[in-house]
Amino acid sequence: MNPWFAKGVILLASIVMIVIRAPYGHRSRTIPVVRSRKGAMEIVLLTIAWVAFFLPLIWIATPSPVFADYPLRPIPLFAGTLCLAIGLWLFHRSHTDLGANWSITLEVREKHQLVTNGIYSRVRHPMYLALLVYSAGQALVLPNYVVGASYGFAMVLLFAFRVRSEEQMMLGEFGKEYEAYMARTKRLMPGVW
Ligand code: SAH
Repeated sequence: MNPWFAKGVILLASIVMIVIRAPYGHRSRTIPVVRSRKGAMEIVLLTIAWVAFFLPLIWIATPSPVFADYPLRPIPLFAGTLCLAIGLWLFHRSHTDLGANWSITLEVREKHQLVTNGIYSRVRHPMYLALLVYSAGQALVLPNYVVGASYGFAMVLLFAFRVRSEEQMMLGEFGKEYEAYMARTKRLMPGVW
């Protein structure tokens, strides 16, 4: 199949992701941070995530086949597009439910409220789940072994190195309320883990 199918899908998905996030990014800059855990590890993780987000866009803009390209097939293209759509839907849902409490990094904002409703009543980290599903979709759709897997690599790293610190931060902030929330929800998969 023509790689331009994959290029179109990835470009559209990236634009939708930016459009979903933009208003929250804008809003979060206007709300003062009261506590931050943005250390060296967070800076490294966020830098890797940014590079991995833009790599596919560079691949899209590259006119000729490049290192690690392979032929595009219809089944991975279809399955990956489905994962991208599910990931974006989850991303939108978690942003809507988290509202003004969202931060790009580990921060507590002024008037921060613990969200336990909507998609957050199912799992504690729906946005990370969204990003993992999205990156699986990208790996399936994008026919390049290196660029296709790059966002997944970044998201697995981000999740693995951040989730404990984030939960510690939330426990420090919300104490028993977060403890009770942890007791009744799983991290990523309802009823599993
Ligand atoms: N881990 C969550 C949120 C990711 S955004 C998810 O995957 O959906 C990261 C920021 O969201 C954290 O710095 C924290 O300030 C905030 N946060 C995480 N869980 C929250 C919750 N249940 N209620 C309110 N804010 C939360």
